[in-house]
Amino acid sequence: MKFAICNLGCKVNACEAESISEALTAKGWTRSTKEEDSDAVLIFTCAVTNTASAKSRQMLHKARHANPKAVTAVVGCYAQMQDGLLDDADIIVGSSHKNELPELLEQFRQTGKKIRLIEDLKQIPFEPMPLDHFEDHSRGVLKIQDGCNQFCTYCIIPYVRGRERSLDPKTAVADAARVAQNDSEIVLTGIHTGRYGKEYNVSLAQLMKRILQEVPSLKRLRISSIEMTEVSDELIQLIKEEPRVAHHLHIPLQSGCDEILRKMGRPYDTAAYYAKIEQIRHEIPHIAISCDVIVGFPGESEEMFEKTYAFLEKCQFAFLHVFPYSLREGTKAAAMADQIDPKIKKERAEKCRRLSMKLEDAYQQAQVGSIGEVITERPHGNDTPGHTSDYIHVVIPDQKYPRGSLVRVRMKEYRSRQMIGKTESVKNDEAI
Ligand code: SF4
Repeated sequence: MKFAICNLGCKVNACEAESISEALTAKGWTRSTKEEDSDAVLIFTCAVTNTASAKSRQMLHKARHANPKAVTAVVGCYAQMQDGLLDDADIIVGSSHKNELPELLEQFRQTGKKIRLIEDLKQIPFEPMPLDHFEDHSRGVLKIQDGCNQFCTYCIIPYVRGRERSLDPKTAVADAARVAQNDSEIVLTGIHTGRYGKEYNVSLAQLMKRILQEVPSLKRLRISSIEMTEVSDELIQLIKEEPRVAHHLHIPLQSGCDEILRKMGRPYDTAAYYAKIEQIRHEIPHIAISCDVIVGFPGESEEMFEKTYAFLEKCQFAFLHVFPYSLREGTKAAAMADQIDPKIKKERAEKCRRLSMKLEDAYQQAQVGSIGEVITERPHGNDTPGHTSDYIHVVIPDQKYPRGSLVRVRMKEYRSRQMIGKTESVKNDEAI
């Protein structure tokens, strides 16, 4: 029997989809890339924007149309919203019971009865979704946390993923050891990763220390993203002292205007954010810091946008992820007055994306001549690509290294927005 998986949304969603793919394959199913020749189509939905929900619906209708006989299952955040627009699906599973999908598919194939599994999210436990190897990914991914208690005014996630909860530390370390058999680098991910471990009284930094101690073969550990309020002194110390922890932090900013940050319900102002990245850079001079920024939030005047733009410049980020504000029904911000004209949102987003390219070029150009440790990905022709600890994508021309090798590389030149590295000129005792 064949199955196809369509995944929308974040790294956590992708991780969960891959975990179910592994579970189905272990039960004898074969993964297909085409809905039309599949016996089941699983759609991992997203609700982060109205557009994402619309795409989830389109995927269901496309799957239905491509193969009316296939069992269709819609899963996750948008399914959890139960707005009735996914009722065409045979199986609907919300933000819990995802790892029961293989059994639910079997149950539907036996009974033909539609299955609806949507729980109240208040008390749901963390659902382990082990994943040995993330196909077509250059790094292993480990989901260690789920849910969020912060309720930023623009965000639907706390309503569809429930309260924050974590994978127990013992299982997390065991999962990391299994992933490290296939991958030299692991990215720790979650919905609010920095809030890991509250129920176990184990911090993210403590979990990372345990993984590094108990999985000596692991070459690098990376955090997908972390809120500035959770970048603790303990974590900064760990990054400073442990070379296997990636020297890159992606710290969502969202706005560089304090008035907008207040309207977003973000738990900090620009002074606190700037003081935090100054502290990080003081302790770890050679670290890359990047951020998420939302432009065109309700009420964002031209002057407020210029404040954000100036703050982004002042922070000297390594790159930016730029999002034009997207109204999401069901959030507080959706009801706010002064929604910004889509044309203006688009202009502001484009302006910030140009800034991101400028900042990224400046950051990478400044690394030319330095030496970095690159974890290699699958070779392309005679060249080997890979990433440094501070998340620079490097190409090593005319040299082939097996995937997952750790190579010391001199950053030779930054050409056409690509870092070119060379290995032969590196002497082992030269400092990184
Ligand atoms: S921290 Fe804010 S933006 Fe992030 S998931 Fe929670 S509510 Fe959403």
